[in-house]
Amino acid sequence: MSALAALVASGAVSEHVPLGPYTTYKAGGPARFMTEVQDVAALMGLVEAGVATDLPILVLGRGSNLVVADAGFRGLVIRLGSEFARVEVEGTRVRAGGAAPLAHVARSSVDGGLAGLEFFVGVPGSVGGAVRQNAGCFGTETRDRLITASIIDLTDGLSREAGPDDLDMSYRHSNVGSTQIVVDALFQATPGDGHSGRAELRRITRWRRDNQPGGTFNAGSVFKNPPGATAGEIIDSLGLKGLAVGDVSVSPKHANFFVAGPGATSDDIRRLVHEVKDRVLEKTGTMLEPEIQFVGFENDH
Ligand SMILES: Cc1cc2nc3c(=O)[nH]c(=O)nc-3n(C[C@H](O)[C@H](O)[C@H](O)COP(=O)(O)OP(=O)(O)OC[C@H]3O[C@@H](n4cnc5c(N)ncnc54)[C@H](O)[C@@H]3O)c2cc1C
Repeated sequence: MSALAALVASGAVSEHVPLGPYTTYKAGGPARFMTEVQDVAALMGLVEAGVATDLPILVLGRGSNLVVADAGFRGLVIRLGSEFARVEVEGTRVRAGGAAPLAHVARSSVDGGLAGLEFFVGVPGSVGGAVRQNAGCFGTETRDRLITASIIDLTDGLSREAGPDDLDMSYRHSNVGSTQIVVDALFQATPGDGHSGRAELRRITRWRRDNQPGGTFNAGSVFKNPPGATAGEIIDSLGLKGLAVGDVSVSPKHANFFVAGPGATSDDIRRLVHEVKDRVLEKTGTMLEPEIQFVGFENDH
């Protein structure tokens, strides 16, 4: 029996798991294999089983930046379990597990009398996803607050402590690879006071509610902003709000958000992304680059 088959037989790895429910788009097909790990020892078990050399790997956070193909993902999806979701305030620093929701990091830091991590409250991802994507908003990026991230390479089990420069973090980019998993991160905050911190959390939450299509299935900004412009303004200027493919449309509230209805397929999302990208290129000469990630598609986009 192969090491993977043994993991399946033991129940540690499941087969044919629908991925839509694990993403904010709520669309897409199943994972061929999926596992949730509760500790580093379990991750090492996967390394010893050689999964990352035998199969494509998808490290799944909160699925808020992903479009999974309708045909699914033919490799192994790895999620960090609740043991990796802890958040602890250590003086003016905040340590958070790779699976910790960013909103929890924001609220815990404010509750701990700190300032500087409030921007995380509006980003519905995990700490691992934020490091990988260098998530940011309101002028602050993850790299501005990250001291170090603990990363395990699933191909050889080696772990490294890496700061923003080691990770080459820039606008929605890092060098965290697809077989590397962020298990923990340490952030720098500054002394704050709970009152203004809570006011800031409310301000950000209200701004999001007023300016973005909350309560819908979406994955945040579809395209990165090109230098000196915003993708939303460019798409809006071409009158593309409301443009639809199947049950997916450009949000009337924010043109860089594409919202999916209950009947949407991932192929609809992909086709709308291509349609908008092509029209923007044709009319403005600007080549928009997707910020959302396509998983399981041929060529992955
Ligand atoms: C309503 C809405 C608003 C949003 N607003 C913002 C915003 O203001 N700014 C912004 O930057 N983004 C925004 N996003 C996008 C998204 O929340 C961020 O990109 C977030 O960082 C993704 O985290 P995740 O855990 O959901 O990652 P996923 O979507 O699960 O995965 C994204 C990538 O990160 C990798 N990954 C996930 N976890 C780990 C890990 N532990 N270790 C290594 N790699 C990992 C995945 O393999 C994948 O490559 C928004 C999304 C939504 C739905």
